[in-house]
Amino acid sequence: MANSMVDDPRQIREENPFESMMERFDRAAQLLNLDADLYAVMRVPNRELKVYIPVRMDSGRIQVFEGFRVQHNFARGPAKGGIRYSPDVNIDEVRALAAWMTWKCAVVDVPFGGGKGGVICDPLQMSLGELERLTRRYASELIDFIGPEKDVPAPDMNTNEQTMAWIMDTYSMHARHTVNAVVTGKPVALGGSRGRREATGRGLLFVINEAAKRFKMSPPATRVVVQGSGNVGGIGARLMHEAGYKVIAISDMFGGIYNKDGIDIPAALTHLQTTRSFDEFPGVERVNNHELLELDCDVLVPAATENQITSENADRIKCKILAEGANGPTTAAADTILHNKGIFVIPDILANAGGVTVSYFEWVQDRMGYFWKEDVVNERLKDIMVASFNDLVKYADNHSVDTRTAAYMLAIDRVAYDTRMRGIYA
Ligand code: NAD
Repeated sequence: MANSMVDDPRQIREENPFESMMERFDRAAQLLNLDADLYAVMRVPNRELKVYIPVRMDSGRIQVFEGFRVQHNFARGPAKGGIRYSPDVNIDEVRALAAWMTWKCAVVDVPFGGGKGGVICDPLQMSLGELERLTRRYASELIDFIGPEKDVPAPDMNTNEQTMAWIMDTYSMHARHTVNAVVTGKPVALGGSRGRREATGRGLLFVINEAAKRFKMSPPATRVVVQGSGNVGGIGARLMHEAGYKVIAISDMFGGIYNKDGIDIPAALTHLQTTRSFDEFPGVERVNNHELLELDCDVLVPAATENQITSENADRIKCKILAEGANGPTTAAADTILHNKGIFVIPDILANAGGVTVSYFEWVQDRMGYFWKEDVVNERLKDIMVASFNDLVKYADNHSVDTRTAAYMLAIDRVAYDTRMRGIYA
């Protein structure tokens, strides 16, 4: 993909997610005329933890893993954000993801700050037992720093409901009572929220619906291309298909399938689930992930990973609406190119905020001990996503800026207001 085979230092810089985030932060802060003291406080994370995690492997030997938790900002409430297990995860990535969580929670106006965690490991090479021991020891290293009032982790890449159940149990064993609000994205039986699994894809659908209305596009006449077929891309594509959109291409990390007349998405996803590949799915052409992004379409949904749209390929992107399902799929250097092409961007910190919104509902339900029906969750999610989309578009119009800049300005404005009201304890 775009981030492989790169040896140009400018591109390495462009593809550093933390640099991309800071470039947008600085631009928004400048346009807001952010006070110098607030700027100094808000441009850095509140706390960064690095932990070494000894794990007894199945061989009987101890292996020590490195893990992080970045708590970016607490001005609006406890830190909130996922935990990622990956061989490539690093502090810059975790720091950027933590900051994005702060801005994301502020854009949808839920009372959380931002956090993110990561452990350098290759979960595909580890047994379930090794993963459980890694997770429990990581959780116990963080025990003084997480909690319903402090920092509430959730799943991210290569972590899931099971990982959250282990963290909840480890935390609860130390607290000597069950504390289910310490994490979100748990199994429903353990205090998870109904609708959480589909929440990011559903939130994406709600904001795409609003954007389509704005451009007077009807779902059957709207061609959608989706990169990624996991929790965000797969569920998003299925919900868009059910809502009548014509999904003409979808991919996973090995490549994609394309049919200009539309793909039977439920059948394609079942094929992927049963054969672990889109290969041999009938009635489609194969495309690779570069070609997929450049297909002629109305809505492009990058829902896989970072740095997919860069200064190198932005000029060849042909959609009318770019709805960012993934975190950071577009580099800061590509923003201007997309803007000059007249592409309407639904920025990641709004487009994929359905997940954290229902995580907020999960935290609320856990603390009340009273659980809502799925249609109540979906209705409340819709209210927040639609209102946030309209707030963002109004803000962009009022300030004559593009939607990306507006999203950062709106978020920074809200965090800055709360920080100013609380006062800086310095
Ligand atoms: P996932 O692991 O369920 O799915 C990822 C999909 O992307 C898979 O289909 C995988 O094959 C594909 N993929 C991975 N690397 C790729 C590559 N280099 N090129 C093309 N395809 C690739 O993950 P997910 O939960 O769907 O998350 C996807 C993105 O959305 C991430 O950026 C994540 O941080 C972000 N996100 C997820 C949620 C959530 O609730 N799951 C919420 C907000 C943001």
